[in-house]
Amino acid sequence: METADVAVIGGGVVGCSLAYHLARRGVDVLLLERNQLGSGSTARNAGGVRQQFSSEVNVQIGMRSVRLLDHFEEEVEVPADFRKVGYLMLLTRPQEVEEFHALMEMWHRLGLAEARWLSAPEAQQLVPALNVEDVLGCTFCPTDGIASPDAVTMGYASAARRLGARLKQGAEVTAIEVAGGRVTGLRSSLGEVSTRVVFDCAGPWSKAIGELAGVEVPVEPYRRHIWVTDHLPEIGRQTPMTVDFTTSFYFHPEGDGVLFGMSDRHEGPTFATEINEGFLERVTEVGLHRLPALERAGIKTAWAGLYEVTPDHQAILGPVEEVAGFWCACGFSGHGFMQAPAVGELLAQQLTEGRSDIDLSPLAHKRFAAGSLAGEKNVI
Ligand SMILES: Cc1cc2nc3c(=O)[nH]c(=O)nc-3n(C[C@H](O)[C@H](O)[C@H](O)COP(=O)(O)OP(=O)(O)OC[C@H]3O[C@@H](n4cnc5c(N)ncnc54)[C@H](O)[C@@H]3O)c2cc1C
Repeated sequence: METADVAVIGGGVVGCSLAYHLARRGVDVLLLERNQLGSGSTARNAGGVRQQFSSEVNVQIGMRSVRLLDHFEEEVEVPADFRKVGYLMLLTRPQEVEEFHALMEMWHRLGLAEARWLSAPEAQQLVPALNVEDVLGCTFCPTDGIASPDAVTMGYASAARRLGARLKQGAEVTAIEVAGGRVTGLRSSLGEVSTRVVFDCAGPWSKAIGELAGVEVPVEPYRRHIWVTDHLPEIGRQTPMTVDFTTSFYFHPEGDGVLFGMSDRHEGPTFATEINEGFLERVTEVGLHRLPALERAGIKTAWAGLYEVTPDHQAILGPVEEVAGFWCACGFSGHGFMQAPAVGELLAQQLTEGRSDIDLSPLAHKRFAAGSLAGEKNVI
């Protein structure tokens, strides 16, 4: 039987970041991934990295991730391809404008001094191809941007291995052993493992991992689409990630075209990841209004993947009370790529030192039982 101080279940960007940060602290880590590293939601994401959230802890995590991505190559020896093109949030409702004015104060108080308010004409100066006729105001943070999900995941994975972590692919976890109220081991398709700590890093499949240990992990899968166009000269490489906050339509430069997407707010939880062709019509209607130049672009490629959504659109981080040794690092609700660098580091601190630089208690699993769900509002 294999043994490990910590078993990480799931080899997406979150599991790989955690494995690296634990190994860096001298923890003996075994990561089990049933398919290939980075093949789950991580492979489907848009690469967006932002700090403009509505909950303080998410802003702090975002700022920490940006710092880690800034020094990623020095630390991990692989470039993260982090391009700070900024995030531009377009607001079209008076109530959003009021709320974002309050958020701007909070961001500045937390040290995100570079976030600033832009008028509609200023936004158009930044992105001349935008239609801003109905835009009432915008926020812009120039230190937000886009990075490479593949580079970050594989960078953490190879650095973790160099530090002695064992990362196994084709290893499906099928059972978690619990005795006397605590984790004692697990079974996988590659054999049994004796361990006293497991991390649920299974992305949209986290609920099923919780069930293996008798823990309720409230994470539901939601399908999200992405389309990438061919050449669109109106959108230069330095164009910010631009988000139409009311509709959730967003785009950013990708190659010599644009990558765009939008949430389908009418579809319930599903593990389906085929493309819903009918949805493109609705997205196009919104997209053409905001970015009329889209009319001249052809679709080069498209895909769908899964968000891993919790009831309050915030991650679940840290130990659960019901079963000692069962830890969550899941439920990122569509923000797991940008949160993975900081979350891996903070949870590794919490496990090894009993505390972390950022107070993660607002994201503890027990909040669901307590019913105190303030929630993250800036979900795209
Ligand atoms: C279209 C789209 C766009 C997105 N855009 C962004 C964005 O711009 N920025 C951002 O931050 N986030 C974005 N996201 C969200 C982001 O992709 C996820 O939050 C992030 O990838 C979660 O990483 P993860 O490691 O938790 O999960 P995953 O990458 O899903 O990894 C979980 C892994 O667990 C494995 N697993 C499951 N069950 C088992 C088992 N029983 N045994 C072993 N292994 C198991 C799976 O095979 C999988 O590889 C987007 C998502 C989608 C779908």
